[in-house]
Amino acid sequence: MQLNMSFIQHPKKIYYKEVTRMTFKEFNFKDTLNQAIKDAGFTEPSPVQKDSIPIILAGNDMIGQAQTGTGKTAAFGLPIIQMMKGNSGVEALVIVPTRELAMQVSDELFRFGKTAGLKTATVYGGTAYNRQIDRINQANIIVATPGRLQDLLKSKKIKLNPKFVVLDEADEMLDMGFLDEIKNIFTYLPKDRQTLMFSATMPKQIKLLAEEILNSPKSVTITKSERTNTDITQKFYVVADYERDDALLRLIDYKNPTKCIIFCRMKKEVDRLSSYMTSQGFKVSALHGDMEQKQREHTIRAFKQGLVDIFIATDVAARGLDVNDVSHVFNYHIPFDSESYVHRIGRTGRAGNKGEAITLVSPNELRTIKRIEKDVGTTMVSKVIPTRQEVQSKKDSDLLNKIIQAKVTPSAIDMVKTLQHDIDIVTIAHLLASIVQQEIDVKGKDIIGLGQEEIERLIERAKNQRGRDGNRGGGRGRGRNRSRGGHRGRSSSNRRDRGGEGRRRNSRSRA
Ligand code: ADP
Ligand code: MG
Repeated sequence: MQLNMSFIQHPKKIYYKEVTRMTFKEFNFKDTLNQAIKDAGFTEPSPVQKDSIPIILAGNDMIGQAQTGTGKTAAFGLPIIQMMKGNSGVEALVIVPTRELAMQVSDELFRFGKTAGLKTATVYGGTAYNRQIDRINQANIIVATPGRLQDLLKSKKIKLNPKFVVLDEADEMLDMGFLDEIKNIFTYLPKDRQTLMFSATMPKQIKLLAEEILNSPKSVTITKSERTNTDITQKFYVVADYERDDALLRLIDYKNPTKCIIFCRMKKEVDRLSSYMTSQGFKVSALHGDMEQKQREHTIRAFKQGLVDIFIATDVAARGLDVNDVSHVFNYHIPFDSESYVHRIGRTGRAGNKGEAITLVSPNELRTIKRIEKDVGTTMVSKVIPTRQEVQSKKDSDLLNKIIQAKVTPSAIDMVKTLQHDIDIVTIAHLLASIVQQEIDVKGKDIIGLGQEEIERLIERAKNQRGRDGNRGGGRGRGRNRSRGGHRGRSSSNRRDRGGEGRRRNSRSRA
C-alpha cells in the first residue's frame, strides 16, 4: 500500500522520464525532402537509416548489410535526393535484381523526389526500347535491372553519367547470376561517382565485388539482434513428406491468415499446389519466374487488393515482393540455403506489422533447420500441428463470439417470423446453427505430423549425427541419416507419442 502511495506522490518522475528518440530533422534535409518524409508517414529513421544517412551525406562510398524490410531504400534514397542538383540528365542510377523490385524502389524514390520535382524512370526487360529510352532521357533517377541496362549501354542506345550509383540487393543479383553483367555495367560508368552497395547477406563474392567497385567504403552492419526482425514469429512443424498438403490446409484453417505466401522450391510444385488449393476452395494465385510481365503485375495487384488471399510462389518470383498485410509465410519445403530463408520470411512482418513464418520439414530436414538458425542467428520454435478436434473447438468458439456480437437485421426478423408459422423457435435456432456450422467444418484426418516428444528426440539425434558426420565425411553420413529419419517419420510409434507429454506441453504453450 505504501509503495503505491509513493508512486502516486511522485508521478512526474515516471511520467517525464527522458526518452532519446532520433527524428529525421537531425539530418537537416531540405524542406521539400522533409515534406516528402512526412507525407510518407515516416517519423523515426530505422537503424540502417540512422547509420547510413550521415555516411552517405558526407560523400563516402558505403557497403550496407541489413535484412529485408529494414528500410534500405530510404537509407540510400533520402541522402541521394538531398544531394541531387536536379539538373537535366540522369544523376542517380539504382540497380536492382528484378523487375518487381525496380518498380517498388522507383515508386518509393518517386515519392521522396517528387516534392523536389525529380523524375524517376524504370528500366527493365520485356518492354519496348524506344519509350524506355525516351523516359531515361527525361529522368533524374533511374532504377534498372542488370540485363536491360547492360543491353542499352552496350548498344550505345543510352549514355549515363550518374554521380550516384546504388547496387541494391547485391546478394540476390549474385544468386540470379548477374555478376558478369554488373561488372560489365560498371565499365560504362564514370570513375568520379559515389557508389553504395546494399545486401541482406555478405557472401565472399559480394565482398570481392565491393572491393572492385567501391572506393574506400565505410561499412554499416545492422547486428544480428537488430537484424532479425522480431516482429516475425518463426515456427516449424515436422511432418512426413506425404502429409505436407494436409498439414498446410490444417494450419491455414487454424491460423486463418489475412494474406499468406506459400513458398515452393520448384515451379512444378507451385502449379500442382495451386490446382490443389483451388480445388479445396481457396482463392490462390501462382507466381513464378517465367510469367509474362503483364500477368505478374496483374496477379500482384490482385493480391494487394485482396482478390486473392494466397500466393503460391517460387523464391525468384517473390523476391522483394512488398505487400504490407501478409500475415503468414509458409515454407512448403524448407529452402536450400539460409539466404532464401531470410528473403522468404521477410515477406511478412512488414511495415511494423506482426508476422508468422511457418516451415514444414520432414524428420531428415531437421539438421537444415539447425543450420539456418545458426547462419541467420535466429530461433525457430517447434510446434505440433493442431488436431482436427482442436481446430474445430477454436472455430466453434470463434463462431459463438461472432453470433453473440452480431447485430440483428430487419430482414432476419422477417425470416424468423415466416419460419415461426410452421416451426417452433428452438427448432429454428437448431436449424440455423446447423447451417452456419457446416461452414466451419474441419476436414482431414485428426492427427497430422509428429508430436513434440518425438520432434525433440529427432533434434537430439540430428545433433549427435552431425558430430559423427564430421569424422566420417559428409556424403555418407547424410545419406544414412536421411533414410533413417524418413523411416522414423512414417513409423506408427510416432503416432502414439502424441497423446502424452508432447501434446500437453504444446497446448500449454499455445494458451
Ligand atoms: P528493404 O529494402 O530493407 O527490404 P524497404 O526499403 O523496402 O526495406 O522498406 C520496407 C518498408 O518499410 C517500406 O514499405 C517502407 O516504406 C517502410 N519504411 C522504410 N523506412 C521507414 C521508416 N523510417 N518509418 C516507417 N516506415 C519505413
Ligand atoms: Mg530493398
